[in-house]
Amino acid sequence: MTDKSSLWVFIEQNEGKIADVSLELLGKARELAATLNSEVVGLLCGRNVRDLAQTVIQSGADRVLLADHPELELYRTLPYARVAIQEARARKPDIFLIGATANGRDLAPRVASALRCGLTADCTDLQIGEYTVKKENKTYPNLLFQIRPAFGGNLIATIVNPHTRPQMATVREGVMRKAPADPARKGIVEKIQPTFEKGDLALTILSRSLRPSTVRLKDAPVIVSGGAGAGSAEDFNLLRDLANLLGGEVGASRAAVDAGFISREHQIGQTGTTVRPRLYIAAGISGAIQHRAGMDQSSKIIAINTDPNAPIFQIANYKIVGDLGEVLPLIIQSLRDKSR
Ligand code: FAD
Repeated sequence: MTDKSSLWVFIEQNEGKIADVSLELLGKARELAATLNSEVVGLLCGRNVRDLAQTVIQSGADRVLLADHPELELYRTLPYARVAIQEARARKPDIFLIGATANGRDLAPRVASALRCGLTADCTDLQIGEYTVKKENKTYPNLLFQIRPAFGGNLIATIVNPHTRPQMATVREGVMRKAPADPARKGIVEKIQPTFEKGDLALTILSRSLRPSTVRLKDAPVIVSGGAGAGSAEDFNLLRDLANLLGGEVGASRAAVDAGFISREHQIGQTGTTVRPRLYIAAGISGAIQHRAGMDQSSKIIAINTDPNAPIFQIANYKIVGDLGEVLPLIIQSLRDKSR
């Protein structure tokens, strides 16, 4: 290890496939490391995962800490946490980023608690900056600004951690942009040997069944989303018809999900999926800040709403004031006519 400060990313992998969020975090880590002049380190755990190390380097890491061990074949809290805690105690990273997946949300607080360092969950942005602690009359440079909505999304909080290390944060999938892999990038793969304690291996996984999600909001070029204004589960059929015609997916606001119009996998926003499609159609969605947090980076936004003052219109490129029950059939009909 060099004397440089280091910025770690936990590389989540499942059956030999690296989670998108880890690649997205590597891209962000590279950006932050350029400001800090630090080394980007990927912590990769698993069994027979050596081949993934090159992808981690090509995606932005300078070094991969590779814990390749039969006990790490499937994610289990205690063995994975043991590796992360051991290595972080020994090498003292400055920053440690983890994807806010089910596994990441399980791992990060355990590691943070063992390292006594604090953790900011579900950051929507990460930046480097300086902060003055007034009562110490001291300015701390190069801190990680951990930015996330707070108080129900009504304000955006910037959280800093001047006193303890590492500065730990989780980020949900889709929030950061994945940088394109660079096949010319070179890095070091350092094999590490985990030492487990007896209790770490108390849990045995006998079998596992995964239900792959059928909703691929994150990669959809077009998303047609419905809100409480859609009125019923039946009215979502109009959204489905339009999404099919445009080769897209159906999204929803939390109010529509809570009303039972559509399943939670379709929810977009702060507590749903973050998306950046080429076209986002928001029908019967008011545009609450928590919804916008998940879609305001869309390239083009069309909003359909009966209320001309709906907040969604503030970020829409095209604004249609009208009843979605009337507007959507007209759009669908005109697309069908065009394709004849
Ligand atoms: P409403 O706010 O009820 O808006 C319905 C809209 O439909 C209105 O603007 C109305 O004018 C319009 N309308 C009514 N009838 C029609 C019609 N016939 N045709 C056209 N327009 C019509 N929300 C999310 O979406 N995603 C999240 O991830 C999320 N996370 C949250 C996290 C927290 C911690 C909290 C506190 C809230 C969260 N919310 C989230 C909820 C959010 O605050 C809003 O309550 C929600 O987004 C409102 O959904 P909506 O716009 O569909 O409903």
